Amino acid sequence: MREALPWREPVPLDATMGEPRARGRFGEYGGRYAPESLVEACREVDEAFREAWADPGFRGALARLLAVHVGRPTPLTPVHRLSEALGVQLYLKREDLTHTGSHKINNVLGQALLAIRMGRRRLIAETGAGQHGVATATAAALLGLEATVFMGERDIERQALNVFRMRMLGAEVVPVTTGSRTLKDATSEAMRHWVGATGDSHYCIGSVVGPDPYPWMVREFQRIIGDEARGQCAAELRTGVPDYVVACVGGGSNAAGTFAGFADTPARLVGVEAEGGAGAARGRLGVLHGCRSLFLQDDDGQITQAHSIAAGLDYPGVGPEHAHLRDLGRARYVTVTDDEAVGAAVRLARTEGIVPALESAHALAWVIRAAGDGDLPAGSTVLMTLSGRGDKDVSTLKELL
Ligand SMILES: *Cc1c(COP(=O)(O)O)cnc(C)c1O
Repeated sequence: MREALPWREPVPLDATMGEPRARGRFGEYGGRYAPESLVEACREVDEAFREAWADPGFRGALARLLAVHVGRPTPLTPVHRLSEALGVQLYLKREDLTHTGSHKINNVLGQALLAIRMGRRRLIAETGAGQHGVATATAAALLGLEATVFMGERDIERQALNVFRMRMLGAEVVPVTTGSRTLKDATSEAMRHWVGATGDSHYCIGSVVGPDPYPWMVREFQRIIGDEARGQCAAELRTGVPDYVVACVGGGSNAAGTFAGFADTPARLVGVEAEGGAGAARGRLGVLHGCRSLFLQDDDGQITQAHSIAAGLDYPGVGPEHAHLRDLGRARYVTVTDDEAVGAAVRLARTEGIVPALESAHALAWVIRAAGDGDLPAGSTVLMTLSGRGDKDVSTLKELL
């Protein structure tokens, strides 16, 4: 077997994705860089989450919601025709089959139950493409909470369908008119709003970013992806554990949840970023939205705007744990262009009858490229998380194809 990627082995102990160190640190990343009132609010969330996560009653209630409302466990699908063409054995973890069509609902339901446990009646959220906003609005409707979703004015124009879905579900959508009027600004605005509303509102962050405990908490809520897949691989695969575990990375929540299930195995972890949003692959150390991590920056240290055809990957940074896994050599971060992602989406549609979200298509595009150039040795078993379905992207694709 040819080994092209410089993996460091054995697996370093602090790469097994347990709790972060003191003050939410993953190596030199993470932390809680927020105004004093939010530091206090984060402390409360941290304490409530630790209690809830140790409480079988809370875990049971979440597991039941995930089963009866979301449709978990999601299947592990072997894709035979594509595997044969690529010369590897590819299995897809089907988060596209969840209610609302992406992994985001796993995290949102966990945080919504936590909000109720903390006596909060309202969820605050930021959203870019609207997927996290729709998931938050869905959870709020299901559990009788209010939802306020901050969204950049430009994204509101580009994602009219999701804006309508959120309003249909009873959420308030607040247009953000500052800065580039996209996700980065919506996040800043949601945090500002939370400062004045910590008493009755919970800030429901949509990825493994933000101040401690969010990167850790969101990863734990998404761990269900990796834990289910681990059991399914043990039953399905001759080797029990796949050689490679691959997922797309925006902020990094579906990847972190997937990796968490395999961090203590010899599986090689690969995070796939958009060429124009490659925080882990090309970012530099900085602080944004309450946390120290890797961000795309200009020469003056200003955070720059990300660009990707997949709105969910259009974030200029990456979660702190991914930055740490990269430094440790435990996970590799690679990039894929818009064109490669579109090509991969079409290929999956035509060989397997699955139209993936453009975000997820990035992960597949790397698998296709790596199988072709030998980065993925022939005969490898590959588990890839298909983070969402492509319905939301059909108008984008329609203009291109
Ligand atoms: C939001 C989103 C992503 C990116 O978010 P992560 O936190 O990196 O997982 C990926 N895929 C889909 C379908 C999404 O909606």
